Amino acid sequence: MNESDEMERSAKGDSAAGAADEQVKVLDSSFFFLDIPIAGTKFAVPPSVVAEMKDLRSKSKLDAMLEDGRLFVSEAAPATRKRVIAASKKSGDYGVISDTDCDVVALALEIGGIVVTDDFALSNTAQTLGLTVIPVQMRKAKKRQWKYRCTGCLKLCDAPGICDVCGSEIIRIK
Ligand SMILES: [Zn+2]
Repeated sequence: MNESDEMERSAKGDSAAGAADEQVKVLDSSFFFLDIPIAGTKFAVPPSVVAEMKDLRSKSKLDAMLEDGRLFVSEAAPATRKRVIAASKKSGDYGVISDTDCDVVALALEIGGIVVTDDFALSNTAQTLGLTVIPVQMRKAKKRQWKYRCTGCLKLCDAPGICDVCGSEIIRIK
């Protein structure tokens, strides 16, 4: 998306406004096993998450995100990984979190990203390091507010109207 597109979208009040300063979301493996859409345009995974995509469905979900440029693969430095292991020992999650989980947290730490996971130990370790964690299955509302969902692609939206992804109607869900 170029800058003029961005400005045009903002002028129209499009939901993509503000995407320019969007924080990268680092996804754990479970995201790809679940059929849950996620808002955003910047995502990252460590190579070990890619390696866990053995079945066709999760692999094609990952490949599609790589192809449309929303997702990139990156590995954190060994020193960053050591910080994560030290944090997991402090939080009592050492031995519970997997090597892949460690890679997810280390990558988020290195790029200043948000961790997306439903895994308790992973989440706990990430929060020990001061990272923001958001769940895959449930999006916690920061404030009490209505939620909206597209009736077509099931994307969660901030307001009713027409979905900018698939053109279906967006309805209030809660
Ligand atoms: Zn839609």
